[in-house]
Order: sequence, then C-alpha cells, then structure tokens
Amino acid sequence: MAQLPVRPVPRAGVLDIEAYVPGKSAAPAGVKLHKLSSNETPLGASPKAIAAYRAVAEKLELYPDGSSTGLREAIARRYGLDPARIVCGAGSDEILNLLTHAYIGPGDEGVFTEHGFLVYRIAITAAGGKPVVVKEKNLTADVDAILGAITPKTRIVFLANPNNPTGTYLPFEEVRRLHAGLRSDILLVLDAAYAEYVRRNDYAAGVELVSSAENVVMARTFSKIHGLAGLRIGWGYMPLHVADALNRIRGPFNLSAPAIAAGIAAIEDAGHVEAAFDHNERWLTWLTSQIEALGLKVTPSVGNFLLIGFPKAAGKTAKDADAFLTSRGLILRAVGAYNLPDHLRLTVGSEEANRLVVAALSDFLGQ
Ligand SMILES: *Cc1c(COP(=O)(O)O)cnc(C)c1O
Repeated sequence: MAQLPVRPVPRAGVLDIEAYVPGKSAAPAGVKLHKLSSNETPLGASPKAIAAYRAVAEKLELYPDGSSTGLREAIARRYGLDPARIVCGAGSDEILNLLTHAYIGPGDEGVFTEHGFLVYRIAITAAGGKPVVVKEKNLTADVDAILGAITPKTRIVFLANPNNPTGTYLPFEEVRRLHAGLRSDILLVLDAAYAEYVRRNDYAAGVELVSSAENVVMARTFSKIHGLAGLRIGWGYMPLHVADALNRIRGPFNLSAPAIAAGIAAIEDAGHVEAAFDHNERWLTWLTSQIEALGLKVTPSVGNFLLIGFPKAAGKTAKDADAFLTSRGLILRAVGAYNLPDHLRLTVGSEEANRLVVAALSDFLGQ
C-alpha cells in the first residue's frame, strides 16, 4: 500500500507555481521614494471616488450588494453595454482566475505569449492545467504562432492587449484574425487593463467582438487609469453563458462596499480619466525620446509604462541600472520573470519623478 502523507498536501500543480512577485516599493533610508514599478497612476484616484469611499465607512456593518449592481450599471452606462453581461471582481486578477477555474481542469491547456502577464501562468497551473507559452515577434504577440500552438486540449487563450510589460499591442484586425482561427469551444480572453490609455485608429479593447461572439471575454480594471489599485476592482464583459458560469463560482460578496461605491464615482468622473490620459500622453512621449537620446533601447509603448533595454556590458546592465536607480529612490520593475532579463519597466510618473529618472539614467550611463 502506498505511504500516506503525514500532513495535508496541495493538489498537483499548486507547488509548481512560482508566487507572483509584486513591484518593489522600498527605497534606502532618507531617500524620497518614487514607486514606478507597478503601473500605478501618478494622479491618484478621483477625489469623488475617495469621497464615496469615505462615506461608506459609516456603514461597514452592512454586507455589500453581492451582485455589484450599481457598479455594473455605471460601467454599462459609460460604455453602452448590457449590465447582465458584466461580472465584477476583486481586481481583474479575480476575473482572470475565475475564468481559468471555470474552463480549465487537469490536462487542459491554456495559451499565452512569451512576455505575457504572469497571472495567466499562475491561474492555469493552479487550476491543474498546462501553461503553453508561445513565442512573440519583436516583443509583440504573434497571431500565427498562437494559432500554431492550439491543440485539441486548448481551452483558453489569453491575450493582453496592450501587453504588460512590453507596451506593444495588436491591431484589432489581428485580434479578429486570431478569433477567426480559433475553434468555437476555445475561450479567447482579451485582457485590456490599459485600454483607456490607447487611442489609435486600429485599436479596440474588444467590446464589439464580445458582443458578436459566444467565446470572447474582455477583462478590465480600475487599478490603472482610475487609480484604485488598492481597492481591488476589475470587471469582465462576456457572453451571458460565461457570466452565468462565473456567477456560480465567485464569492457571493466578492467586492467590498467601499470598492463598489468608489468604483461608481470613478467611472462617472470622466474629467479625472481625461486628465490622467493627458498626463500620460505628454510624459510617455517625453520619456521615450529622452531615454532614446541617452542611447538606450525603448520599445514603443501605448500603455502607461515603458520597457527599457540595457546593454550586456559589465556595469551597464539592467541589474546595475536597477541598483543605481534604487539608490536614488527610483523604483523600477525588473522583468526577468517575463523572460526579459536585459530590461527594466518604467511606469510613467509625476513630472518630478520622470525628470529624476532621465537625470539618473544619464548619470548611470556616464559614470
Ligand atoms: C495591472 C494589470 C491587470 C490588472 O490587475 P488588477 O488585478 O485589476 O489590479 C491585468 N492585466 C494586466 C496585463 C495588468 O498589467
């Protein structure tokens, strides 16, 4: 008879997961910290969202509305959607995890790209599935390579569009081509966490595709342009049959009452979103040209962050730069876990932080 374990053991796959490591947030003592490692907004949350959050503090004994009805309706109004097809989550991380757990089981495969968001791998593995990683081309998802990785066991394809940490995106015609090439029983998840930052004629977050197909989900978040990362609010727009599945497995009160209230106020504050967009446009462009002028490789980004490539020469590597910048209180994101060991990811910060980063990189390269 097989030996029984002496203590509880997680099921297969769980201990194969490398836990997600969030962006650093520590600076040396006495140095002012600029956290540019997690794509948070330098403008903060809308003052209206903060007021709504505070107002709920008087009623914390009450359970929230378990269906996040007010928030789903506010999102639906903002984007012209059917609220019944929206599911809210504690961050879009929860939406991505719910989708994976609903559609992937042991032996099933989930597909994502080489430099794609790490949460996909974690969710697929945790569900007992097999992560299938597809090569990218020029740090951009490659539709033909994704289609070439599909097998009879594929259940989900994740596409971050734009992608984090590369900042690149697929034009909507390419997303359509990807969808057209997938079997109808495979769920295509479009993770559009940075959609509000993208205004390109050939980009779409995916609303239209979700509306016209039975196997597409768009995931969105309040953590990025809305500045509510600390509250954990995300949502997905999906076919009714997918919403029905998620509503059966999610926690009955998965969003807190303060999160629902602040989320409603945030999505209704179009002026705040516009200000965040304008700030990003201005400083993303400025940072790109300044850092390129220093001789570093910058991947053109449509998000609120930039991927910076460093030389391999001793003393000038990404690791060296990370240490130098950290000593000045400038915290960027090392992206070795994304298979980009020669790069750092920089979040667009306040004017002060952006200027400090360029000055520090100049000193780093000149030393
Ligand atoms: C930040 C981010 C998310 C959103 O995370 P939340 O859980 O909503 O905070 C989702 N996908 C990508 C690619 C991201 O960068």
